[in-house]
Amino acid sequence: MPQIQGESHKGGRIGWLRAAVLGANDGTISVASLIVGVAAAGAPQGSILLTGVAGLVAGAMSMAAGEYVSVQSQADTEKADIETEKRELEMEPERELAELTAIYVKRGLDQPLAQLVAEKLMSSDALGTHARDELGITETLRARPIQAAFTSAISFIVGAIIPIAAALLAPSARVAEVSSATALVTLVILGGTAGYAGGASIAKGAMRVAFWGALAMGLTAGVGKLFGTAV
Ligand SMILES: [Zn+2]
Repeated sequence: MPQIQGESHKGGRIGWLRAAVLGANDGTISVASLIVGVAAAGAPQGSILLTGVAGLVAGAMSMAAGEYVSVQSQADTEKADIETEKRELEMEPERELAELTAIYVKRGLDQPLAQLVAEKLMSSDALGTHARDELGITETLRARPIQAAFTSAISFIVGAIIPIAAALLAPSARVAEVSSATALVTLVILGGTAGYAGGASIAKGAMRVAFWGALAMGLTAGVGKLFGTAV
C-alpha cells in the first residue's frame, strides 16, 4: 500500500498496542487483587503464589475464549456478507454497478465520473471493490479470531506475571504490601502508555488505571481480612 509522507495517524496501527495494554492491565489488576485478598486473609506464601498462578491461567483462558468468540462472530458476519455480495455480482452485475455508482455519487463524484470509476474498479476487482466501498471490509481491518485470542491471552499473562513475581520475591510477612505496590507502579506505567497510544493525556491515563487498580485491591483486601478473621 502506498504511504503518504509527512503525516502520522494514530488509528489502525495503534489498535493492537491499545488492546495489548488493556489485556496487561486486566492481568495486573485481577491477579494482584487475588494475591492481596488471599494474603490479607493470612494465607501462607505458597498458597498465595498458587492462587496467583491459578488466576493467571484462568484469566488468560477466559480472555482468549471471550476474544475468540466475539471476533469469530464478527468474522462470520463478514464472510456471510462477502458471500452474498459474490452472488449478487454474478446474478445482477448491472444492479451492482448502479449500486456502486450511487455510493461514489454520494461521496461527491458527479454521475458520469462515478460510473466511470465504478466500471474501472469493477473490471479489475469487482468483489474487492464492493467489499471495501459498500461493506467497509478491508484486508487490514479483517477480523482475525485466533490472532485476537492469542494477543489477549499473552498480554494478560504478561500483566499477571508482575504481581506474581513480586509475591514470590517479597519477604513472607510483606507479600500483600510488596505485590500491591508493584502492581500500582505497573498500572501507572500501563495507564500512561494507553493514554499515549490513544493520543490522550499520559497523566490522566495513568491516574485512571491506578484508581481502579487501587479500588480493586482495596476491595479484595477487605474481603480477605473479613474471611481471614471469620475462618
Ligand atoms: Zn454490491
